[in-house]
Amino acid sequence: MNIHEYQAKALLRDYGAPVSDGRVVLRAEEAKTAAGELEGPLWVVKAQIHAGGRGKGSFKENSAGEKGGVRLAKSVEEAADEASKMLGRTLVTHQTGPAGKQVNRIYIEDGSGIERELYLALLVDRGTSRISFVCSTEGGMDIEEVAASTPDKILSFAVDPATGYQPYHGRRIAFMLGLSGPQVKQCVALMGTLYKLFTEKDMEMLEINPLVVAGDGSLKCLDAKMGFDSNAVYRHPDIAALRDETEEDPKELAASKFDLNYIALDGEIGCMVNGAGLAMATMDIIKLYGSEPANFLDVGGGATKEKVTEAFKIITSDPQVKGILVNIFGGIMRCDVIAEGVVSAVKEVGLQVPLVVRLEGTNVEKGKEIINTSGLDVIAADNLRDGAEKIVAAVKG
Ligand code: GDP
Ligand code: MN
Repeated sequence: MNIHEYQAKALLRDYGAPVSDGRVVLRAEEAKTAAGELEGPLWVVKAQIHAGGRGKGSFKENSAGEKGGVRLAKSVEEAADEASKMLGRTLVTHQTGPAGKQVNRIYIEDGSGIERELYLALLVDRGTSRISFVCSTEGGMDIEEVAASTPDKILSFAVDPATGYQPYHGRRIAFMLGLSGPQVKQCVALMGTLYKLFTEKDMEMLEINPLVVAGDGSLKCLDAKMGFDSNAVYRHPDIAALRDETEEDPKELAASKFDLNYIALDGEIGCMVNGAGLAMATMDIIKLYGSEPANFLDVGGGATKEKVTEAFKIITSDPQVKGILVNIFGGIMRCDVIAEGVVSAVKEVGLQVPLVVRLEGTNVEKGKEIINTSGLDVIAADNLRDGAEKIVAAVKG
């Protein structure tokens, strides 16, 4: 689960990390009051979306020479004006994809002087099963780009969970970043704070890009991106409350309401499968036969007819879906329940694309009978390979 920059900065502030003062604005009318509460003489007006690269992004229907999603202003009026120009519009960055994201919230911040822009991140490194620090002197840039062209400018190391964060970790980062004097001490404290926040809130990712040396020589977190382990969010009601559903894929959101494990993908074949392993295998075999899955979907073990119906509706609501493969191995899940769900969903929403159904396992005969007597135009498949072959052939014409 991701949160907005202004929410991440509030958490940083709570834990004592240095951030600028700022106000969030939901409506243009609030912008002037919000900006007026900040000191100046520089204001930063920042579009809040769950994607990076806002500064270099551009709005749809951009007017010539218009700035991106992070704008500097020299007066309260100018800040309010920039905020009202961005609200409600769609910002496209290299992380949003071509569709972009609608800007519904603006963060107005006290502008900082900047001497240097640095990069800092904490993440869960699956390779070492530890939390790693990543830092670089090349802040404000795309870290992927730095990693590709000048990997020697990145320092990365894992923290042993048995000792946790130690001051020497912070000193290592400080020296890599070329900090000196009181900055080193500040860096050691800040890294400890970030590590504590990261572990206490079950984060997956924390990125400060840029971490700056401000005009007065002190360190400051100028941007903040946080991702939390969704499986642990139940332990943190304060974090759960920060969820912004408008930032999520509507199909994934609908799926989560029905407790379905659904992830939207870019392909053309919608999949309805039970069990994560079988769902993965189904995606693989679709690729093997020359197509791409439009989603991952595990309806789970004890799905009801209603849940299956919802799952089917979510799949068919995706305009990218050119065909559907239902692949069920009934163990705990019964084939007749799946069949009833599919039939009821098709009756409700109709069927515009080819549908291949492969059923096996508990109550398979009953399931097949429900499908066969339903009058639906279904292509039956005998096994996983047969199913994949048939749906790919149907979609490719
Ligand atoms: P991103 O483009 O989505 O990563 O947004 P950032 O918050 O990182 O802002 C982009 C860039 O705007 C930064 O790299 C800075 O160069 C600049 N910027 C952001 N905040 C300030 C500020 O307080 N003062 C100044 N002078 N520049 C800022
Ligand atoms: Mn940034």
